[in-house]
Amino acid sequence: PRRKLAAGNWKMNGALADFAQIDALLAAHPDPGCDVLICPPATLISPMAQRTAGTPVQVGAQDCHQEEKGAHTGDIAAPMLAEAGARHVIVGHSERRADHGETDDIVRAKAQAALAAGMRVIVCVGETLEQREGGSTIDVVGGQLQGSVPDGIDGEQLVVAYEPVWAIGTGKVPTNEEIEEVHGFLRQALQKRFGDDTGAGIRLLYGGSVKPSNAAEIFAVPDVDGALVGGASLKADDFGGIIAAL
Ligand code: 13P
Repeated sequence: PRRKLAAGNWKMNGALADFAQIDALLAAHPDPGCDVLICPPATLISPMAQRTAGTPVQVGAQDCHQEEKGAHTGDIAAPMLAEAGARHVIVGHSERRADHGETDDIVRAKAQAALAAGMRVIVCVGETLEQREGGSTIDVVGGQLQGSVPDGIDGEQLVVAYEPVWAIGTGKVPTNEEIEEVHGFLRQALQKRFGDDTGAGIRLLYGGSVKPSNAAEIFAVPDVDGALVGGASLKADDFGGIIAAL
């Protein structure tokens, strides 16, 4: 059975002072009953990993460079993130695809780099509103999945997050049927590519405007194994409410 995962993506938000939110989260949920991951900005990975050592909260990164080292000013290599205490790396978030022109090839190389550094990867896929309205959601998501997920993964190392671009930070959420259609498709595609067992072990997260008020409904959808949470992961009450719903 797949263990549920509540993953928080702080994006370019948060500061040392916000570690108080993690303390409050742990005080309210000392034994969360699911995996809990927070991906803060890179500068906070090391202090957060130290602060959360020995607690159920795991720490991850929001991106990595695809090469192990070299002349890439401003970038951070996967082994550096691992040394700082990151155990997961998000790759291919739509904000990075849009802001930094990351293609499926780049995302796949980043995922490979993260795996080579001994971390798990969360590969993000998702359609724009235009693509959904044009009826190409499954084509788009399928192409991103095929192009962004490396070969030869095992089911423990990979998490796939479905994040419709139009649902991120907008308060808009797809219907349960829409989520079920995409997650069912992702499961099938992963099983076809990696075999039934490996494909069945890969966790599928939904992301996009997840809040305590809609979490239970979303988590009841088949093949939803947790959430990738942006805004609501910054506040202990909100993230705690989502964890409780899992
Ligand atoms: P919100 O939860 O703020 O909509 O963001 C979702 C997201 O992009 C998580 O990676």
